[in-house]
Order: sequence, then structure tokens, then C-alpha cells
Amino acid sequence: MGKKRVIILGAGLAGLSAAWHLQKQGIDCQLFEQEEEVGGLCRSRKINGFTFDYSGHLLHFRSDYAFKLIKNLLGSNLVEHKRSAWVYSHGVYNRYPFQANLYGLPPAVVKECLLGFISASKNKHPADKESLDFLSWISQSFGPGIARHFMIPYNTKFWTVPPERLTCEWLDGFIPMPSLSEVVGGSVKASHRQFGYNSHFWYPKQGGIAELPRAIVAEVKNIHLKSEVAGIELGKKEIKLAGGGREKFDYLISTLPLPEMARLIKDVPPAITASFKKLRWNSILNLNLGISGRDNHHRHWAYFPQEDVSFFRVGFFHNFSSDMAPEGKEALYAEISYSKDRPLNKSTIALRVAADLKKVGLRKDGDTICLQDIVDIKYGYPIYDINYSAARQGILQYLGSRNVVSCGRYGSWRYMSMEDVLLESMRIAEKVSERK
Ligand SMILES: Cc1cc2nc3c(=O)[nH]c(=O)nc-3n(C[C@H](O)[C@H](O)[C@H](O)COP(=O)(O)OP(=O)(O)OC[C@H]3O[C@@H](n4cnc5c(N)ncnc54)[C@H](O)[C@@H]3O)c2cc1C
Repeated sequence: MGKKRVIILGAGLAGLSAAWHLQKQGIDCQLFEQEEEVGGLCRSRKINGFTFDYSGHLLHFRSDYAFKLIKNLLGSNLVEHKRSAWVYSHGVYNRYPFQANLYGLPPAVVKECLLGFISASKNKHPADKESLDFLSWISQSFGPGIARHFMIPYNTKFWTVPPERLTCEWLDGFIPMPSLSEVVGGSVKASHRQFGYNSHFWYPKQGGIAELPRAIVAEVKNIHLKSEVAGIELGKKEIKLAGGGREKFDYLISTLPLPEMARLIKDVPPAITASFKKLRWNSILNLNLGISGRDNHHRHWAYFPQEDVSFFRVGFFHNFSSDMAPEGKEALYAEISYSKDRPLNKSTIALRVAADLKKVGLRKDGDTICLQDIVDIKYGYPIYDINYSAARQGILQYLGSRNVVSCGRYGSWRYMSMEDVLLESMRIAEKVSERK
């Protein structure tokens, strides 16, 4: 590539990882970020002795490379935890996942869930996800009881659309599938068995998750902060900055949300414009709360499938690290999902959350909410509906044909973890360096 110009848009983990890997290989690149700090969703806010992330951001590793990379960056500040995740259902907290921990639920519910699971497990199990919509997959994999008491209400609340409107393309091991023996075992006594690839997680001892981008940035040069990209001219191979400047590129690596590209790029073919219009997503309103007084449970987070509870998940930052809250206080986050299909009244949400926390036993009489901080995440999760695959594919191919690689969770428009985006950007950097 020699003198070829590489521009990266967005300094979240995807953009930072691309720049880090390119620069380690001696390839020059320039990174443009609209905010005054790096990190994107992987940031932390320090307020009055509390540290809040943009909802829970916990590191799970499937790849040795990613683990070693992050371990080298964070050193002794990286601590391993055994997950303590819970589900609130029928007035009790049971361990996650619901389907493997029925013990303690009302006997009629346990019976319904067990009979349904037994009958489902006589069929092909788990159901073949390629050919089914998500509702059919749930019913065939778990039976009607587990579907009715957890899978359907929780997923409808989280995705904001009913599961029959979703495909199974995103599943990729996200939903644990216990055996019949494990389900029966977890219904006759409390089980401590962990399920799923994320049974352990890693988290910084100090400073919140922002320590990770902070460590990467120390090794990356040419980052331009407060540099919002306001337009991309594919013909001229040029980006336009909101401040008025222009920069030429030979290769553009964009980590900007895919729907934003519809606004930034002029003169896209009508078929691609039509594809942009088909992209759907949910948004996450994350309410961070500082609470005086501390309940000494050791939960990391809990799920709430109930329609009459505003949040789908609550997490406990102070149980990730004691550094996250002042002595004797709790740092919580409540996550609320919304979209065009499930609108949210933002003016009343803080009051609803405060009341709902009492309803589910997470606040005691006499405690006070001493701090409240809202992080409103416009692009939460791409919605995998019937149009998702073809629309996404068409847009990415078009951008690729114009020397734009769109990557990261929102650039490649996929349900990706921090580890996933780090690795994807590493692979993209390798491809760019091969074309040198
Ligand atoms: C609610 C929630 C919880 C999550 N929890 C976890 C978890 O526990 N563990 C895990 O591994 N992953 C988790 N994730 C996923 C994780 O946040 C992402 O995979 C990762 O942070 C995405 O990084 P990114 O760089 O692709 O995107 P982003 O972090 O969104 O970065 C994009 C960057 O582009 C910048 N940008 C946007 N528009 C412009 C513009 N016009 N000009 C210049 N810059 C621009 C933004 O400011 C931002 O800095 C979670 C995600 C969500 C939404």
C-alpha cells in the first residue's frame, strides 16, 4: 500500500482495534471521532464517587488471542468473576437460565414447564434454527411452559417485536440449551451449575470498562477527536467533516452505524436506498442509579420478563468492582428497551423504574436514590427480521465495491460483543496490509 491513505471512522472499540492493528504493522491511518473522548459504547462516567458504564459491559472470551491482547493491555487491572445472573419470575429470584433453574417457582408452573420440555425433547432437539422463525424455535426447543413463562415475554420485551417477527440468525449459542436431565435436576433442587459460554467474565478492578479503550489509545496515534463526519463522497473518495475540512482516502474503514450511512452518502442506487429503509433496531435507555444503603446480595445482574415491570434487566456495578460505588452505596443500572414498535415515555421512566425496583425487591424502605444518570443508546441491537439479511448484505456489498469496509457492531450491523469487534477489526487490518 505504501502511500495509500487509510481513514477510519469512529473511535469505539472497533475503530481503535483497526487503528491499533494497522499501526502495529507499520501502516499509517487517520481516525476521526465525533465525541471528545474515545470508547463509543465502551465508556464510563464518573459522577460523585460513582462509576457507571453504558449499561453492563463485561468481557467474555472465546478467543485466546483476544484474551492475551486485553490481558497485556490491562495487566493486573483485569479481574475474573464467576457469573451470578438471576431471573425474577413469579415473585422469586432464581438463577439464570430460567429453563435450567425451575426449582422454587410455584409447583403448577414447574409442572407446566417440565411437561412441555419433556414433550419438546422427544422431537429434534434443539430445533433446527435455520428453517424456523424465533417463536417456532422457542416452542419446539423448550415447549409451551418455558415459552409462556419466560422466553416469549422476555424476548418480546427485549427485542420490542414479537418473536414470530424474528429469525434465528442471531442465536449463535446465546440461549443455553440444557439437557432433559439438567432441566429435571434444576427443578427438584437449587442448582449451581453454570450454563453458556459466558459463565465467567472479566472486568477492570478499577476505573470501569473505559479502562480498555484508554489502554488501547495509549498505543494509537493520529486520533482526531471532536471530528464529526458529515458526509462521504464515494466518487471523490473523500470524507467531509462537520467542521468544514475534507480528507481523501484510498480505503475507508467505517464503524459508524449502518443506517447513518444512508444520510452521509449521497447518490446511492435506489435499490440500496430501499435496503437502508428496511433496517430495524431497538434502542436502550440505560438508567444509572446511585442508591444510599447497600443490600449485601452478590448478584451481578437479573432479568425481568414481566410486562408490568419497566426494565428487562438490572445490573449491579458495585458487584463487578468495589471501586464503582462509594462505601456503603449501590451503583445500579436498569435497561429499558424501546423502538417504533414499543414507544417509551422518557419523561416518566425514572419514576417508573424507582417504583418497579421496589416492586421486585431491589430497593428497601428508607433507602434513597442519591444519583440518577441517563444514557440513551439510539442503536441498541439490530433487529433480525425477515428483511434483515438481504438488506444488510446488499448494503455491505455495495459499500465494499466502493472501497468502504463497514465494520464493528453497528457498521457490520450484527449482534457483536466487545471481543467480536476487536477480532473483526484485526482481520480487516490484516486484509488491508495484505493489499500493501
Ligand atoms: C446495552 C448494551 C450492552 C452491552 N453489553 C456488552 C457486554 O456486556 N459485553 C460485551 O462484550 N459487549 C457488550 N455490548 C456490545 C459492545 O458495546 C459493542 O460490541 C462494542 O462496544 C461496539 O463497538 P463499536 O466500535 O463497533 O461501536 P461504538 O462503540 O458504537 O463506536 C462507534 C463510534 O463511532 C462514533 N461515531 C458515530 N457517528 C459518527 C460520526 N458521524 N462521525 C464521527 N464519529 C462517529 C461514535 O461516537 C462511537 O465512538 C453491549 C452493547 C449494548 C448496546
